[in-house]
Amino acid sequence: MTEETIFSKIIRREIPADIVYQDELVTAFRDITPKAPTHVLIIPNHHIPTINDVKASDELALGRMMTVAAKIAEEEGIAQDGYRLIMNCNEHGGQEVFHIHMHLVGGQALGPMLS
Ligand code: 5GP
Repeated sequence: MTEETIFSKIIRREIPADIVYQDELVTAFRDITPKAPTHVLIIPNHHIPTINDVKASDELALGRMMTVAAKIAEEEGIAQDGYRLIMNCNEHGGQEVFHIHMHLVGGQALGPMLS
C-alpha cells in the first residue's frame, strides 16, 4: 500500500476543500483546477491507490461513487444536457493523485473524448 495522499486529508477535513457531498463511504469535492464549469472529484473514503488495486470488498464504495455522481449532476443542473465521468490510472492514464477518484465534468459541450 502506498502512502496516503492529500485526498485523505480532505476527507478528514484537515485541509480545506469545497466538499459537496460526504457519507460513510465516499466524499465529493470541487477540483482545485476545474477543467469545466462543473468539475467535482468523487473518491472512496478509504485509500485505494489505483484502479489496479481495487478489490471485491471495494464494490460498495465504487457503486456509491456512481450513484453520488448522478445525484451531484442533478443538483448541478447538468444531468439532462449530459456530462462525463473519468477515472485515470497510472502514467499513461494521466493519474497524478494516487487515491482513486472519479472526475465528474460538465456544464459545457466536452467534445470527443480522445483528442
Ligand atoms: P488525476 O490527474 O490524478 O486524475 O487528477 C487529479 C485531480 O486532482 C486534478 O484535476 C487536480 O486539479 C486535483 N487536485 C490535486 N490536488 C488537489 C487539492 O489539493 N484539492 C483539490 N480540490 N483538488 C486537487
